Amino acid sequence: MKSKPGKVLIIGSGIGGLSSAIILAKLGFDVTVLEKNRQPGGLTRSYTRDGIECAVGIHYLGSLGRNQVLRKFFDYLGVTDSIPVSRMGQDGVIDRYLFDAPETHPPRFDLPEGFDAYEENLQQAFPDERARIEIIVAAIRKTAGQLHALDLLYATESDFSLLDQSQPYGEVLDTLGCSPGLRSVLAIPSSWIGVPLADCPAYYHNMALASYVSSSWRLQQSGSDMVDVLVDRLLELGGKVITGAEISEILVDSRVVNGVQLTSGECLAGSHVIAAVHPQVVLQMLPEGAVKPSYRNRITKLQNTHSIFSVHARIDADTHAEIPYNIFKIETDEAGNVPDLKYYQIRESEKKGVNLLSILTSGKDDAWAPWNDTRSGCRGDDYREAKAQHAMQLIREAEQLFGSFKGLKMLDAYTPLTIRDWVNSPEGSAYGVLRSSSQTLATAILNRTAVKGLYLAGQNVMAPGVIGTIMGSFSSVKLILGADEFRKTIRL
Ligand SMILES: Cc1cc2nc3c(=O)[nH]c(=O)nc-3n(C[C@H](O)[C@H](O)[C@H](O)COP(=O)(O)OP(=O)(O)OC[C@H]3O[C@@H](n4cnc5c(N)ncnc54)[C@H](O)[C@@H]3O)c2cc1C
Repeated sequence: MKSKPGKVLIIGSGIGGLSSAIILAKLGFDVTVLEKNRQPGGLTRSYTRDGIECAVGIHYLGSLGRNQVLRKFFDYLGVTDSIPVSRMGQDGVIDRYLFDAPETHPPRFDLPEGFDAYEENLQQAFPDERARIEIIVAAIRKTAGQLHALDLLYATESDFSLLDQSQPYGEVLDTLGCSPGLRSVLAIPSSWIGVPLADCPAYYHNMALASYVSSSWRLQQSGSDMVDVLVDRLLELGGKVITGAEISEILVDSRVVNGVQLTSGECLAGSHVIAAVHPQVVLQMLPEGAVKPSYRNRITKLQNTHSIFSVHARIDADTHAEIPYNIFKIETDEAGNVPDLKYYQIRESEKKGVNLLSILTSGKDDAWAPWNDTRSGCRGDDYREAKAQHAMQLIREAEQLFGSFKGLKMLDAYTPLTIRDWVNSPEGSAYGVLRSSSQTLATAILNRTAVKGLYLAGQNVMAPGVIGTIMGSFSSVKLILGADEFRKTIRL
């Protein structure tokens, strides 16, 4: 990139769009982020009910410790000091997994901070599987080293290939002969990225697990505060964010991008467009003939991750104190696979005397199919009732773990349709494109498109989660700059 950078238009203001924008603004590009919603932030943004901030896409963050991957990203973006966080795991627990299968599983397993502690907890829970556990943890340590050294961004393709490590993790565990109990404990990290263990590439599994065992953190403020920090940083660097700007078309001439059109009809010119939205959404924005049928076919056929149903409720803080770790109630089958789980968090809220209970579980998309053709806010009373009923079932189930909730008031529940409409994610997919072993080739280098000047960013290009999404932003910038220039100019 010897010439002066041109104008960059970024579609979507989630963590993917905002982080891409900050990196490019730091490099001197003229950057404008365009967001369809009235407020920026996508899944990162929290929302307020009864004066309480309810999280959507950030419940905890991994690897913000010194020299760890997310800390390096936040330092580069210039936001580390403005996003206050608290370290989890001070009492030895980041996540507590609860099982109800006494024949095959221990009643609980605690995920701690640090690989020695993790190995020790595994050895204690599964004393007959010492040798296997050593092999398993050695591979996770190796991945942690690659993750924090940013091999995915800086190593040359011959040094490092994801394809070498794309064997399904379930198969790896089968080969080692793991017990169902150990298998279930190891299945949870793949659920964080929405991929079943049996089809989760070993590298993605180990990367997700390593990112949280390295260190885990909670935001001290809300997701919306984090979005404000990112937006302020971008504005400080001379970038712009325009909200209420839904893009209907990416303008392409002879396979070269030259701008975007909004649903209002307004057109904006740009030499580069970065679409930090789902690739299937990008495809709908591209004029017929802009890409080859084979590319259209590949993107259309991509399978996506499942969605999520979530409940937020207020509860009495004196009776139900904040729990400094996450709780997972895990459903297992006899082989140790995990068809579903419930995730619980009890945290202090902005209101004195009130704590916030959050529950997340898989979306059960079929249950919401009758309202597929409706939009958020206009789905009718029967939808509201179905949602409230499902939410109450989850709360009653939670009471079996936490006791009867005093001062309970449901604040909100959201369904796959809510996620679909809020961020334009196909069928409300929570983590975007399914990063499965069966789709390894179809999902490779998704940020490169067949249109010159058009790049993708966001959780779909490399991996979901805040780390995976920001990693995707750096990798898209690498494509724009070229690998040599990237290595020279961006030091993380
Ligand atoms: C319920 C849930 C819990 C999660 N928990 C965690 C967690 O604890 N920790 C973690 O690290 N990760 C978590 N994740 C994953 C993480 O939130 C996501 O990977 C990440 O936020 C994705 O960011 P993104 O920028 O790719 O997408 P998004 O946040 O979806 O942003 C895309 C943006 O593009 C906008 N847009 C779409 N179409 C258009 C258009 N036509 N014109 C203009 N704008 C458009 C959308 O409105 C949206 O703002 C969670 C995800 C979910 C769903």
